[in-house]
Amino acid sequence: MIDSNVPFLDLHAAYDELRGNLDAAYRRVMESGWYVGGAEVETFEAEFAAYCGAEYCVGVGNGLEAIHLLLRAYGVEEGDEVIVPSNTYIATWLAATYTNARPVPVEPDAATYNLDPACLEAAITPRTKAIVAVHLYGQPADMDPIREVARRHGVPVIEDAAQAHGARYHGRRVGALGDAAAFSFYPGKNLGAFGDAGAITTDDADLADRVRVLRNYGSREKYRNEVVGFNSRLDPLQAAFLRVKLAHLDAWNARRSAVADRYLDGLSDVGGVVLPYVLSGVDPVWHLFVVRHARRDALAAHLAGRGVQTLVHYPVPPHLQPAYADLAMGEGSLPVAEAVHREVLSLPIGPHLSPEGAARVVQAVRSFG
Ligand SMILES: *Cc1c(COP(=O)(O)O)cnc(C)c1O
Repeated sequence: MIDSNVPFLDLHAAYDELRGNLDAAYRRVMESGWYVGGAEVETFEAEFAAYCGAEYCVGVGNGLEAIHLLLRAYGVEEGDEVIVPSNTYIATWLAATYTNARPVPVEPDAATYNLDPACLEAAITPRTKAIVAVHLYGQPADMDPIREVARRHGVPVIEDAAQAHGARYHGRRVGALGDAAAFSFYPGKNLGAFGDAGAITTDDADLADRVRVLRNYGSREKYRNEVVGFNSRLDPLQAAFLRVKLAHLDAWNARRSAVADRYLDGLSDVGGVVLPYVLSGVDPVWHLFVVRHARRDALAAHLAGRGVQTLVHYPVPPHLQPAYADLAMGEGSLPVAEAVHREVLSLPIGPHLSPEGAARVVQAVRSFG
């Protein structure tokens, strides 16, 4: 790739910037002789819980397992229903499917792309055991009305915060907005490891304890297995890397915001381009900068021709994936999500996208007919 091109996300630049501390973290873990669990994981858990403003954090193998183990810890099982957004990454749905519960989709608000609280109540039945609200693209879901409906029905709200580390809703951080939260530290996320990693946060001591047992073979005491558990533990090497990166999360989120501001300013008058809408009282962390355009594919091709790499999040909604063919929800069954999927385009964004790079993106979008 030639220099003047704008990549969607530059992960190697993250390593370059923090190389000294990351290499030291690597050596610390290697020298410790302790390679599963232990002090590095526990220290990261304490630091991340404090960052989110939650009482407990339990590290797990990845973000999908974080959601799955929370649903298990709430006792979700076959015959139950789990409410999920129709507009999300498929992991949110798969976590429900892992428990043999049925994912019940709720359509998004067409402006924020997040679960529409006005559509929530109609989806609740006596079988509903949990609501998973996703903070999509880095913007917190509208948690107050979601929690109000949940409270009335006695159903817990799980945040899928995989795309929103550090985002705030009326001053409070994600991870402390629901009954429990699931995080992914997949490399491309705002707080990304150098491999797979995830965590849950909660103020509920019993729930945290159940996840701690579930992630470790259903065992609290070696060779005594109380429940059928899993092997889904946060790797100490990843925990050590995450501690280095957590110290930079707010600063790196601020750099993402600076890029977002350049796009919002530079594109505000461009016809046909629908810019992201941020709810009042919400501080997003711009995991993605998603625009809508009726001629999305043509816009993407135009940008590619000018060296600007874009992606689509996501091209096919979960209910239209072959994996969910048995739900028999065909084309047209979730029209809002389907329309969003046809028109969204993610522009490059990240802590290492320079002002010049952002300006090139703005120019390239402006030159689209
Ligand atoms: C990335 C992501 C996940 C899954 O995280 P993994 O660590 O890849 O398992 C779940 N939900 C959402 C919304 C995500 O973006």
